[in-house]
Amino acid sequence: MNANIAAVLYLVSGILFILALRGLSHPTTSRQGNLFGMVGMGIAVLTTLALSPPSDVFGWVLVIAGIGIGGGIGAVVARRIAMTAMPQLVAAFHSLVGLAAVLVAAAALYAPAAFGIGTPGDIHGASLVEMVLGVAIGAITFTGSIIAFAKLNGNMSGKPIMLPFRHLINIGLAALLLILIVAFVLTGSIPLFWIITILSLVLGGLLIIPIGGADMPVVVSMLNSYSGWAAAGIGFTLGNTALIITGALVGSSGAILSYIMCKAMNRSFISVILGGFGGETAGGPAGVVETRPVKHGSAEDAAYIMKNAQKVIIVPGYGMAVAQAQHALREMGDLLKKEGVEVKYAIHPVAGRMPGHMNVLLAEAQVPYDEVFELEDINSEFAQADVAFVIGANDVTNPAAKTDPASPIFGMPILDVEKAKTVLFIKRGMGSGYAGVENELFFRDNTMMLFGDAKKVTEEVLKGL
Ligand code: NAP
Repeated sequence: MNANIAAVLYLVSGILFILALRGLSHPTTSRQGNLFGMVGMGIAVLTTLALSPPSDVFGWVLVIAGIGIGGGIGAVVARRIAMTAMPQLVAAFHSLVGLAAVLVAAAALYAPAAFGIGTPGDIHGASLVEMVLGVAIGAITFTGSIIAFAKLNGNMSGKPIMLPFRHLINIGLAALLLILIVAFVLTGSIPLFWIITILSLVLGGLLIIPIGGADMPVVVSMLNSYSGWAAAGIGFTLGNTALIITGALVGSSGAILSYIMCKAMNRSFISVILGGFGGETAGGPAGVVETRPVKHGSAEDAAYIMKNAQKVIIVPGYGMAVAQAQHALREMGDLLKKEGVEVKYAIHPVAGRMPGHMNVLLAEAQVPYDEVFELEDINSEFAQADVAFVIGANDVTNPAAKTDPASPIFGMPILDVEKAKTVLFIKRGMGSGYAGVENELFFRDNTMMLFGDAKKVTEEVLKGL
C-alpha cells in the first residue's frame, strides 16, 4: 500500500478514536462511541497489514492465528465477565499492553533492520530513546497491573501493605533507572536493556503493593495512562502513526481521569505516583461485627415512609451491582413517581468498583438520564430530602471521611445522606464496605436498616408500594 494512503487511513482511525472517547463520555452516545472505536481499530489493523504484509505463509498464519486466538479469548471473556469484576479485567488487559511494549522493544533491539531503525550494534539514537522508554514504562505497567489485578480479584489483601522505607526505595530505584536509561541511550548495550527491564518490573510491583484497595480506582486509571504511554513508545519504534495517536489518547485520558479521581478522593497526585497514598493508615477489620443496637425495619415500613415522602434520593453502591437490583430499583422509582414523589439518583464518583459503574447499571435499567446526578450537583439537596434510599452503598456515605483524620477514607468527599430526614440502608448485615471501615451512620436515630439482599428487599418494597 502507498504510504500516503496509509497515512490518511491512520488519520481517519485517529479521528474515529477521538470520536469514540467523545461518545463514551455520555451513556446516550456510548454505544455509538464504542462502534467508532471498533471501526477505527479495524481500519488501523487492516492498514498496517496492507502496508507491511507478512513476507511468507508462516507470517500470515501467525497473524491470523494471533487475531483469531486473541480475539476469541477477548470475546469469551467480555461475554462472561460479571460487571462487578470489570476493574480487575481492565487491570489484566493493561498488563498485556505493558508486556507487548516490552516484547516489541526487545524484538526491535535484536532485529533492528526489520524495524528500519539501524543495524545490530548501530541503532539510531532516537530509536534507542523510544525503545528504552517503551520498555521501562511497559515493564512497570506489567507488574503494577498484575498486583492491581490480584488486589481487586481478592488474590491479595486489599489492605495497604506498608513496606519499610518504601518512598526512599522507590525514589532510589527511579533515580537508578533514569541513570541506566541514559547509559543505554549512549551505549545501546543489550545487558543494560535487560537490567532496565528487571528494575522496571520490580518498581511496578513496589509502586502498587503499598496502595490500599479503597484507592485502587486511581491506580487502575493511572496504569491505564502508563499503558497508553508505553503503546505510544512502541508506536515510535514501529513508525506507526495510528499507534502513536492511540497511545497518546489513552495516556492523556488516563492521566486526566487519575487527576480527576485524585481530586474526588482528596489525594495528592504526586503521592499516588510514589505509591505512598492510602498506606499511612490501615483500615479496620472487614466485616466488622457490631454489638451496638441499630434500628431495623421491614420492606413495608420502607414502602410506607417513601410513599408519604415528597422527595426521595436513591444512592446506589456496590451491593446494588452484586445483587443486580437496578431493574427492580427503576420500577420502584417509577412507582414512587406515580405517587407524586420526586425521585432522584445520586452517584458518587467511586461508587461500585470502577468509575461509571453505577451510571452503566442505571442506564441498562433505563433510568432516565435527567434523574441521575453526580455528587457535586446533588449533595446540597439531601438536606431537603425526606428519604435517602441507600442501596448497597457504604463507604461513599461514611461521614468518617469528613470527621475522622485517622480513617483511611479521610478526605474523600461523600454523599451527605445523613442530612436527609430518614436514611434507609439496604444491606445484608453489618458488613463493612471496600475500605474495611465501620459506618457510624448505621447507629444514628434517623437511620433505618433494611437487612437482606438488595434485589430481594427492593422487590418487597415494590410489593409494599
Ligand atoms: P462499599 O463501601 O464497598 O459497600 C458495599 C456494601 O454493599 C457493603 O457494605 C455490603 O454490606 C453491601 N452488599 C454487598 N452485597 C450486597 C447484596 N447482595 N445486597 C445488599 N447489600 C450488599 O460500596 P460503595 O459505597 O459503592 O463504595 C465503593 C468503595 O469501593 C469505595 O471504598 C471505593 O473507594 C472503592 N472502590 C471503588 C472503585 C471505583 O472505581 N468505583 C474501584 C475500586 C474500589 P453487607 O456485606 O452487610 O451486605
